[in-house]
Amino acid sequence: VAKKEKNKIVRYIPEMDQSRTREAILEKDLKIALEKGEFELHYQPIYDIHNEVINHAEALLRWEHPYLGRISPLDFIPIAEKTKLIIPITDWVIGAACQTVRRWEKMGIMDMTVSINVSLLSFENRGTELVESVVSGIRAAGIKPTSIKLEITESILIRDTDELRKVFYDLKGIGVKLALDDFGTGYSSFGCMKDLPLDIIKLDRSLISNMVMDEREQMIAESMITIIHGLGIQVVAEGVETAEQLTFLKDFGCDFIQGYLFSRPLSADDFAKYYFSMSKM
Ligand code: C2E
Ligand code: CA
Ligand code: CA
Ligand code: CA
Repeated sequence: VAKKEKNKIVRYIPEMDQSRTREAILEKDLKIALEKGEFELHYQPIYDIHNEVINHAEALLRWEHPYLGRISPLDFIPIAEKTKLIIPITDWVIGAACQTVRRWEKMGIMDMTVSINVSLLSFENRGTELVESVVSGIRAAGIKPTSIKLEITESILIRDTDELRKVFYDLKGIGVKLALDDFGTGYSSFGCMKDLPLDIIKLDRSLISNMVMDEREQMIAESMITIIHGLGIQVVAEGVETAEQLTFLKDFGCDFIQGYLFSRPLSADDFAKYYFSMSKM
């Protein structure tokens, strides 16, 4: 047994080393990525089913590492959270997204709402700073507060503290919109969201992907949409990849569609091209 175990360890360690090294590299380089201008925001179009227009976009962070290439946010956001780098990164994202809204307005794209993803950590114990960062981003770009929407994940609801509620109401007070992200993945409870001033709930891709094949999944999606609408909140379906999914979601009264069916996330310029090509149709 001892020998077997030893072999197992010998085979296992190099891989662990590799991933540890990679994480160590990412952690070290993440610290300077902002200064070196290695981040870029891409924007995924969100389609308004009722008005048949693209009037929302989600800002998604892209990191071009000098020699490792494009790193997925799924890999570096957790490191940014662990090291608190998420705070300056979120501030940068807020500023950059506001500037894009301004740039699009100059190109004739009016009334576009841009969503910014905000990690739980950006809220904790620094609610006031977050609100200030949003206010200064909006002021610096000279845009309407209603052009900005913050997306937060539902795990935030587990720590439903008074401070959090105050931040939400402060943000609503300045006119910013609020969305609950990845709904249906974790500890979602319809009960705890009734106290928060949400404008939009985003149904996670996992709820959408099996829907066409599975009648119970259809029931769940339709019921969720009905309940959310009952609370006066609009619904975005995430990760919509097929026309069949779109047909079901339309039928269920879903308000917005986001997914590869319409477009992948695009650079700000490609988003503008996409927008104008869609509005000619
Ligand atoms: P998310 O907020 O749920 O963003 C949606 C993710 O789904 C994006 O992945 C998007 O590219 C992908 N997606 C969109 N449509 C489809 C589809 O039809 N099929 C499939 N398979 N995927 C689709 P991405 O850009 O890799 O981002 C991953 C996650 O990283 C995001 O999930 C979000 O949690 C986080 N993230 C991205 N940017 C930021 C940021 O600026 N700040 C923070 N805190 N987190 C971010
Ligand atoms: Ca999101
Ligand atoms: Ca999501
Ligand atoms: Ca997600």
